[in-house]
Amino acid sequence: MTAPEMPAQMPADLLARARAAKGFMPPAEGDLLFRYAVARLPHGPVLEVGTYCGKSAIYLGAAARAVGGDAVAFTVDHHRGSEENQAGWEHHDATLVDPETGLMDTLPTFRRTLHAAGLEDRVVAVVGRSRAISHWWRTPLSLLFIDGGHGEQPARDDYDGWTPHVMPGGLLVIHDVFPDPAEGGRPPYELIYRPALASGRFEEIEALGSMRVLRRN
Ligand code: SAH
Ligand code: MG
Repeated sequence: MTAPEMPAQMPADLLARARAAKGFMPPAEGDLLFRYAVARLPHGPVLEVGTYCGKSAIYLGAAARAVGGDAVAFTVDHHRGSEENQAGWEHHDATLVDPETGLMDTLPTFRRTLHAAGLEDRVVAVVGRSRAISHWWRTPLSLLFIDGGHGEQPARDDYDGWTPHVMPGGLLVIHDVFPDPAEGGRPPYELIYRPALASGRFEEIEALGSMRVLRRN
């Protein structure tokens, strides 16, 4: 299938599953992810940092299925949750705690979500700390989606560790970018988005909600 024939919209069944999945991806921003992933996947794999329960991964997996062939999306997470997902914090979900360890574990929910969507062959989970994986990663990425830890160190690590893997012409998509401090946390804006633009390696091509799309030159 050539680019102009690619579906601009996700199949209704996958769209419904993405919308219903547990997670933090507003509909329009998920649609944007699908659209750019469809455009980029013919050039190489997509990689997401921050799987959580697989909501955004459904949009990426749907794109990989639409593109066909070897198209695949990798999704990286240690599945222990970010700071704000821990008990006592704003985004804590007690149903995601493993009773045996007492720790957050989003991997079982992610696996069920992916299986139900029929996307297990299109989304590959990479389980571990983002920095440990980016350090050894070698494959150029057609699209990198950063939606992982929003603390200062994780944001720095994701910028330093992952952005060099974006291929020339590839895209860096960043979630939770809030130029106005009243709207949200600073690290994705100050430690990923701004440095990417300041590096001269990336230029912005689209902004939607807290999503920013940058193209590597
Ligand atoms: N994309 C998801 C939301 C991701 S939430 C959605 O669509 O709903 C952020 C995720 O990043 C959490 O699941 C957390 O476990 C993960 N995370 C945070 N810091 C990390 C790190 N250093 N390494 C790996 N994963 C990390
Ligand atoms: Mg997010």
